[in-house]
Amino acid sequence: MSYDSRRAGPAGSDGDAYPWRAAAPTERAHNVCVIGAGAAGLTAVKNLREYGFGVDCYERETGVGGAWNWRHDRSPVYASTHLISSKPFTQFPDFPMPDSWPDYPHHTQVLAYLERYFDHFGLRDHIWFGTEVTQVSPTQDGGFDVTISGARGGGSDRTQRYAAVVVANGHNWSPKLPSYEGMTDFQGEIIHSSQYKDAAQLRGKRVLVVGAGNTGCDIAVEAAQQATRCWHSSRRGYWYAPKYVYGRPADQINDLVYALRLPLRLRQFLFHRTLKRTVGDLTRFGLPEPDHKVYETHPIANSQLVYYLGHGSITPVPDVARFTRDSVEFTDGRVVQPELVILSTGYLPRFEFLAPELLNVDAEGRPRLNLHTFSPTHPSLAVAGLLQPDGGVFSLMHWQAVMIATWLQLRDQAPDKADRYWRRHRGETGLRFNKAKVKQSTRHWFEVSHVEYLRAVDKTLREMEAA
Ligand SMILES: Cc1cc2nc3c(=O)[nH]c(=O)nc-3n(C[C@H](O)[C@H](O)[C@H](O)COP(=O)(O)OP(=O)(O)OC[C@H]3O[C@@H](n4cnc5c(N)ncnc54)[C@H](O)[C@@H]3O)c2cc1C
Repeated sequence: MSYDSRRAGPAGSDGDAYPWRAAAPTERAHNVCVIGAGAAGLTAVKNLREYGFGVDCYERETGVGGAWNWRHDRSPVYASTHLISSKPFTQFPDFPMPDSWPDYPHHTQVLAYLERYFDHFGLRDHIWFGTEVTQVSPTQDGGFDVTISGARGGGSDRTQRYAAVVVANGHNWSPKLPSYEGMTDFQGEIIHSSQYKDAAQLRGKRVLVVGAGNTGCDIAVEAAQQATRCWHSSRRGYWYAPKYVYGRPADQINDLVYALRLPLRLRQFLFHRTLKRTVGDLTRFGLPEPDHKVYETHPIANSQLVYYLGHGSITPVPDVARFTRDSVEFTDGRVVQPELVILSTGYLPRFEFLAPELLNVDAEGRPRLNLHTFSPTHPSLAVAGLLQPDGGVFSLMHWQAVMIATWLQLRDQAPDKADRYWRRHRGETGLRFNKAKVKQSTRHWFEVSHVEYLRAVDKTLREMEAA
């Protein structure tokens, strides 16, 4: 295997004008294929290029930005979406967001930021838009045949061979839908939060929001202002952190506490105390007591939920027990008659272009990867962005991309050393990057503490560089 940076750029830019018209796999065998041009794909392309690799990135949509590009059918953002993580804890480490932007930029600003990143690092020549990857198959020589097709049924399939593949297809676009008794007979409207785009959808309606993640809480807050009634169903009690603590974005305060390297229990004690002082006891609004300690579920940052609970504009209800034709019954026996039900029940990862064993997918459908990144069966296959951190994810994606590039470089320049490293570490697929015991649920499959994860990446980089 040998990567050749002279072959960088889209197929055809290095002399063979229409290489993918050939029937047999076209030789891009010195290049790395990146799937997806969202935040993870963009930083993968940029960092692989900086390490000298030729890169072809395929993006099914017509622009960059992935989830943050509201023009895309699969974008989960709605009109009022702002970052939940604050600006300095979200941005790429080598590309700051403008000082003039607020602490929590609007989704259109996040898209503008990703578009500027794309322009600034000159990524245009390496990305094929409107091109969907439909199949990725390993080859005998350790590379992959990648089959691509014009997105939305345009164009016939073409197959090209690559030395390595980085999958950056996102994990917030395929809805996870619950199934409740009687749901199909319900005469009202049921949508997943991915179909929620604008507060106008709520106006004048009786709305039930199911799910108390960040999106569910955001939508409940909008329903409190627009709908005639809003019920908010949560399965368990959560810790609702405000977006500001002591006048600073909450993730920045959390990071300060992390930097002191205090033991987990002490950090939990400090966070509990802060929440008690800033948010207070939520059980008096009818919310259930959290059944876990802070840091054991993905953080919910919402300063307005408590306000609208306190104003009676949101009625908290427990888990849904069943639907009837015109009503919804909860586990405590209460019955309500919503016109619109919004299932804010999250997303599941999907890799339909890859055989599950390539990503070591378990019986539940969860990929079991090394550092949430490397396939334990194929050393030249990596996944980027499959992370759910306690803060912003872009900086983690950057360092993850550096780690992938470092690994592929080691394989290229010192195959024997890479092989030894691989045999030593490939089985490490069960490591946790969180001192707290996070709840077992699909929502927490990729939950990491940003500090623990970055420490593990740092250690891996040092080991690879010393190998
Ligand atoms: C409502 C909401 C709020 C969020 N808030 C924050 C926040 O505050 N801070 C934060 O850091 N993160 C937040 N996130 C997480 C967000 O998902 C990440 O910030 C980031 O967008 C993920 O980037 P990605 O590149 O991994 O995936 P995506 O952005 O989903 O990009 C994947 C790309 O791959 C393309 N693709 C998929 N399959 C194929 C294929 N087969 N062939 C070719 N192309 C393909 C898609 O078209 C897409 O462009 C939020 C998510 C949601 C849903």
